[in-house]
Amino acid sequence: MTNKFLISLTKKYESPLYVYDAEKIISQYNRLSNAFSSVQNLKINYAAKALSNISVLKLFRSLNSGLDTVSVQEVQLGLKAGFDPKNIIFTPNGVSLDEIEQAMELGVQINIDNISILEQFGQKHPEVPVCIRMNPHVMAGGNKKISVGHIDSKFGISIHQLPHIHRVVENTGMMINGVHMHTGSDIYDIDAFLRATEILFNVAASFKDLEYIDFGSGFKVPYKEGDIQTDIEELGEKLSKRFNDFCAETGKDLTLMFEPGKFLVSEAGQFLVNVNVVKQTTSTVFAGIDSGLNHLIRPMFYDSYHHIENLSNSKGKKRFYTVVGYICETDTFGTNRQISEIKEGDILSFKNAGAYCYSMASNYNSRYRPAEVLVNKGKDYLIRERETIEDILNKQIAVSLPV
Ligand SMILES: *Cc1c(COP(=O)(O)O)cnc(C)c1O
Repeated sequence: MTNKFLISLTKKYESPLYVYDAEKIISQYNRLSNAFSSVQNLKINYAAKALSNISVLKLFRSLNSGLDTVSVQEVQLGLKAGFDPKNIIFTPNGVSLDEIEQAMELGVQINIDNISILEQFGQKHPEVPVCIRMNPHVMAGGNKKISVGHIDSKFGISIHQLPHIHRVVENTGMMINGVHMHTGSDIYDIDAFLRATEILFNVAASFKDLEYIDFGSGFKVPYKEGDIQTDIEELGEKLSKRFNDFCAETGKDLTLMFEPGKFLVSEAGQFLVNVNVVKQTTSTVFAGIDSGLNHLIRPMFYDSYHHIENLSNSKGKKRFYTVVGYICETDTFGTNRQISEIKEGDILSFKNAGAYCYSMASNYNSRYRPAEVLVNKGKDYLIRERETIEDILNKQIAVSLPV
């Protein structure tokens, strides 16, 4: 997409604006499929929470992807997008037995991540096959805030509790059809990831009714030039071979599953904003934009880096800026960024705005959430309208107290 085209979208749909490139999503999906092409039964379940617009879900549906969901509402969205319930996996954390039963009623694959619920579910519904989320206690990335496979993590059942799992399974007569792990975001050490998969293979060997092994996700994508990323091709080569050997050794015809979010949609997204004000202070030059942590919270929440480009002056002389939002909080997007000279009214683009950006947006400061546009083969499709004051007031009840 050229800068001129992107700027024209901000004229057509106003700023701020989320723009997603369908072709990039498709090429990432194909890249992952191709890396594991030697595996007979491969299933990629897109993690809906990364970007949950129904048109994006429908795109994944048309690619024959499955869907990974973490709430019963995401399951409902997936069904509305046309997914067969058999192709939806429900992998929540810390939800009630009631919510798991709602998902079961909808006919989706259940994944359970604690022994208490496993035991209760198994006693009530021994005929419903479930998958178990294991915690292999391996740190595959460096950041504890987004790593969920370490020893202190709230996610999954510890591999050291495998004997207890087996006792529950035997006592209830339930069937375990899958084992799962998700070590969390930002795998850059493939060997650490492969060590975790070895632990999962060991667990898998102990279940006789197994149909699939789900290796979760956490593939790292580049956020700036020269950034490390997960080498999907190397991982594909090594893990495919190991998986095929495991199937041959155990005589089982298993399915290999992944559930990536970030890898599939992060790079496809851009967030376009308008510069409201350029403000020189005693210590820096601020570029103040028509957005804030209400629309893109990752920089403040995770210290994540989003590359910022001035689309209106891409060839201009580079200068140093601190890019900040309009929310009445400290909402700094980037400090000391070298960006082509910025004037008020310029359009800036935040890169890697596909995953965990719109889906984490809020109405803080009673601001509207932005519109979303999906671009395919040069054609733009509005897939969500910008909100209005009616949306802000929706569900509010204006009570007048007799004071
Ligand atoms: C969030 C999540 C994912 C997706 O993680 P990414 O880092 O976006 O690939 C996969 N599986 C589960 C269970 C998740 O909660």
